Amino acid sequence: MLDRRLRLRRLVFLSLGVGVAAFLAVLVVVGVRATTAAASGPFLPSEAAGHIVEGAAVTLAEGGLPAIAKLDAALLDAMRQAETDAAADGVAFDVTSGWRSARYQQWLLDDAIERYGSEELARQYVATPDGSRHVTGDAIDIGSLDAQLWLSQHGWRYGICQTYANERWHFELATEPGGTCPEMKADAAS
Ligand SMILES: [Zn+2]
Repeated sequence: MLDRRLRLRRLVFLSLGVGVAAFLAVLVVVGVRATTAAASGPFLPSEAAGHIVEGAAVTLAEGGLPAIAKLDAALLDAMRQAETDAAADGVAFDVTSGWRSARYQQWLLDDAIERYGSEELARQYVATPDGSRHVTGDAIDIGSLDAQLWLSQHGWRYGICQTYANERWHFELATEPGGTCPEMKADAAS
């Protein structure tokens, strides 16, 4: 009688053990799936990824923004000098894009492929994460036409050049201060 009871108790413990183990296994699987879904879920441009909200009128002084803070120090320095001199001419710089994360750049490219209908066409306007000068912090986009024209005319004094013929808003440090800007590439794909 005692022996039977002992066996029954063991059986109950064993069942409980198996039950708990199975429950924990399910928890782990669900947890891993949820984590994977979060990692591969839809990307949305964020401030941390270098996104600047349209019309935000961001200046180079806003060093707290990753889009500005993660720019190459020499480019930022040259742009700030240019900004000071442009201000004396009554021209203000507004930054529409600076540093971007590789993930954000890929998102922009995917978006452009959808919009233009082909990767070949999209690549003329948006570089790949590997090829983008924004991802390395070496490019800055300026919004206002006044500022774009000012930089096209005076940028060379600071080593700043427009580098793509089809992007009059896109500037890079591409020569020595006072040097000659290199010939523009036709677009981001060339
Ligand atoms: Zn650009």
